Amino acid sequence: MYDIAVVGAGPSGSVSARLVAEAGYKVVLIDKEEIPRYKPCGGAIELTLVPKYKIPNEVIERGVETIALYHTSGKVYRRVGPGAVVWRLKFDAYFQYLAATAGAKLMESQALKNVIWKNGCYRLKLRRGKVEAKIIVAADGVNSSTLRSIGWSPFKPSEVYLTVQKEILSSEERIAKIIGEKTINFYFGKDISKFGYGWAFPKKNVISLGWGCRLSEITNTRKSFQKFLDYEPVSKVLSSGETIRTAAHLVPLKSREAFHERGVVSVGDAAGFVDPISGKGIPYALESGELAAKTIIKVLGEEDLEGLNHYEEALQGSFLPVLKAKYDIVFDVYKNDENIMRYLELWQKYRASEIALNLWKKK
Ligand SMILES: Cc1cc2nc3c(=O)[nH]c(=O)nc-3n(C[C@H](O)[C@H](O)[C@H](O)COP(=O)(O)OP(=O)(O)OC[C@H]3O[C@@H](n4cnc5c(N)ncnc54)[C@H](O)[C@@H]3O)c2cc1C
Repeated sequence: MYDIAVVGAGPSGSVSARLVAEAGYKVVLIDKEEIPRYKPCGGAIELTLVPKYKIPNEVIERGVETIALYHTSGKVYRRVGPGAVVWRLKFDAYFQYLAATAGAKLMESQALKNVIWKNGCYRLKLRRGKVEAKIIVAADGVNSSTLRSIGWSPFKPSEVYLTVQKEILSSEERIAKIIGEKTINFYFGKDISKFGYGWAFPKKNVISLGWGCRLSEITNTRKSFQKFLDYEPVSKVLSSGETIRTAAHLVPLKSREAFHERGVVSVGDAAGFVDPISGKGIPYALESGELAAKTIIKVLGEEDLEGLNHYEEALQGSFLPVLKAKYDIVFDVYKNDENIMRYLELWQKYRASEIALNLWKKK
């Protein structure tokens, strides 16, 4: 029997698995895909994550210095934004490697089917076979099978963004000309997304060109996405190379009301830990994975599941208040173009957290 089974080997799951394994416990890290796996994602991260998680240079595709914010009115805003762009395949592989070298057993191509609580432990039925564990970390993303299996509701269409992303094979020279060497682009406007935005984040010679809109606002995905692709600054990016992949994926925009139940702890996208305005989720996946692991290590030491209540306290002391503040304003921000432009104006100068906590309400 394992002390913990972590379902999902994205950043949140791999960080949890690594820390609990490092503390000397028996850990299994399960993923439905063959590792390393492609994950549709812009891959933009803040520079502070690089030293914090000792992310090696080879994982970073491109440095970022500026963020260009296009609005369909024709206005372009720019903000300084030191960061990096990564391929998730390589980025996630780095965290999976750390988990495996810390002693976690990595089980790939093993989709979780369901979990059953029996005789004081969990039985996880996988695509092939089963495992048993005292505690489960649900790190299996926005559609978490783990949480559905214990009776938690899936996110509603009004609580998720639908994203569609194309990978455009271009060249370093063309990227430098169209987007800039160290720039990432965002595209806003009710015309191209009623509630959300588009982006062009260049890797070395590929551009991740994506679009997101709250699912409940979409009547025809194909038409809406095409309208985005026809927007002039976007069509220039699209025609700069060859589309080598197109993928759709959901992103949660609302954190869940509770974060654990009888030994099942949710982290990352499964818990809804994504910035509701920008869709940024990587830092919260890593942070929640770490906070969950620290709580679990204590609980395993004391053999008392009640101790998992401290996970929520840890989240409250970390990023959760900021995500809640952003959720409180996101409906107002995407209400009309005037509000979107006011947000972009503020975002040029201030941190998004400062806008949500203080500045937005001072109209
Ligand atoms: C198009 C797009 C663009 C994005 N761009 C950015 C960005 O630029 N910057 C940023 O910070 N965030 C971005 N995000 C958000 C970010 O990708 C997520 O917040 C982050 O990946 C969450 O990490 P996670 O570990 O919780 O889940 P995930 O990375 O989703 O990992 C979940 C893992 O669980 C596995 N899994 C799922 N179901 C099962 C099952 N039944 N059994 C076993 N394994 C299972 C999956 O294979 C996967 O490996 C973007 C998201 C999307 C969709």
